[in-house]
Amino acid sequence: MIGLMKRNREMYSSENVSHDTLKMITDGTVEEHTALLYEPYADSEDNCGSEMLSAEEMKKAAGLAAAEGFSLHIHAIGDKAVTRALDVLCELKGCEGTRTIAHNQLYTDGDTARIINDGGIFFQTTPQWTKSDDYTLRYRQSAQSVRPCPVSARRVY
Ligand SMILES: [Zn+2]
Repeated sequence: MIGLMKRNREMYSSENVSHDTLKMITDGTVEEHTALLYEPYADSEDNCGSEMLSAEEMKKAAGLAAAEGFSLHIHAIGDKAVTRALDVLCELKGCEGTRTIAHNQLYTDGDTARIINDGGIFFQTTPQWTKSDDYTLRYRQSAQSVRPCPVSARRVY
């Protein structure tokens, strides 16, 4: 994988296009009950979501990519997925590229503190998830671990 990424970076990068980021998908979405959660979905008692990549797979891929100067971008929506993404990115503090967690729909208070304390992780989210409109509430309530995104805790770059 890393060889293909390096080759694509060399062959296709230009003034307007850069191939310098590894995106990894940790889980799915709350709406599809595939966001990775610590607790089962309220309406599907044995379902804690789906694991697209194991923690070990992410750590290995991220380490290899970071060592070659690639930025890291991790899709994580459920609280357990966000923890896994943080485990990977916090270990790579000081790497050359940027470190980003995308979405962050649900997460634990402990992980909020880890994001703030690290100080270098981009925390990309969807503003709709900070509100309590009918659409968001309906899907958020299907996840028992309701910890919506606290806007005031996010670091602004
Ligand atoms: Zn995504």
